Amino acid sequence: MAEKVLAATQIGSKKIEVRQYLMPEISADDALVKMEIAGICGSDIGSYAQYPGEPRITGHENVGFIAKIGGDAARRWGVKEGDRVVVEQYLPCGNCRWCRIGEYRLCDQTDKLPGRTILRYGNTPVSVSPSLWGGFSQYLYLPANAIVHKVPAHVPAKEAALFVSLANGMQWAYLQGGAAPGKTVVIQGPGQMGLSSVVASKEAGAACIIVSGLAKDENRFQVARKLGAHYTVNVEQENLTERVKEITGGHGADVVVNVSRGGQDTVREALEIAAKIGTIVLAGPGNQQIPSKGFGRKLVTMKWVQGSSFTAFELGLQVMASGRYPLGGISTHQFDLNHVNEAIRSFSGEEGTAGEVIHASIVPQT
Ligand SMILES: [Zn+2]
Ligand SMILES: [Zn+2]
Repeated sequence: MAEKVLAATQIGSKKIEVRQYLMPEISADDALVKMEIAGICGSDIGSYAQYPGEPRITGHENVGFIAKIGGDAARRWGVKEGDRVVVEQYLPCGNCRWCRIGEYRLCDQTDKLPGRTILRYGNTPVSVSPSLWGGFSQYLYLPANAIVHKVPAHVPAKEAALFVSLANGMQWAYLQGGAAPGKTVVIQGPGQMGLSSVVASKEAGAACIIVSGLAKDENRFQVARKLGAHYTVNVEQENLTERVKEITGGHGADVVVNVSRGGQDTVREALEIAAKIGTIVLAGPGNQQIPSKGFGRKLVTMKWVQGSSFTAFELGLQVMASGRYPLGGISTHQFDLNHVNEAIRSFSGEEGTAGEVIHASIVPQT
């Protein structure tokens, strides 16, 4: 009898159940990863509620060991059976304009577009052979166009599960935001992306890192300070604009990273606190109006960003491997394959856990 694979499969809105799949055959140019741990992303909360209509295995922050690999794939990726890897969420075409300039995360093939079947981990339906397109599963399938990075063995699994967050921090605060020596960086929102932006800003040498959030974020503020934030501001108690002015002697923020995932006013706030020359990176501001008046004479660049580049993944993995940051403080909760519903609900705060769960992961082999 062929070997079976267990995988947490979304079969409806807020409905995930463990189903069995066939272990795929591997040819010369593909591979199979035995999953070690898979992080839950902020975007998983939204897609958990909005079922796309076809069953799919969730999980796109995937860490594991190469279990089987074809000869061509092994040469292409420079890995062998037993190597520990992370797999980017993207499955790009390799040929379009965006792929050709290295910005493959924008490739149509790996994007959610109407009328197309998306090829992207955690999103591709199980009807696309061989079904194993999500990391909340014992095994993950790697086609020839998968993007693989090695992870050193000494990194604890729960820290390795942060590789997407750390890549996003590097992309948004450093590569797009321009965090650098002498700069003041304000990070709106102390979730996993905000805390990873603290790490990236610190690593980039930023002189002053300020993190804002709500009263319920007190635990997260503590983690932020341990990671290198200089100030934390509870916007329910203090006025962020006044506080940033005070801290910077009136200069303001050279870089603002908005990962607030909501709020009514965080974009207006970002425009207020931006220095006369500043960059605002909108990486998850929720759904709010962008005001265009009343901010004085400024030269502000606003960037709308999406995901991470190959460079950002590599930078994030280097920081992780360095052991310089207490990343364990971000990775707070782990669940097994039978508790994916609970994991996503607790991460979203539905289980009365708001502020407590910063980053949760699924450990599929337990
Ligand atoms: Zn994600
Ligand atoms: Zn492409």
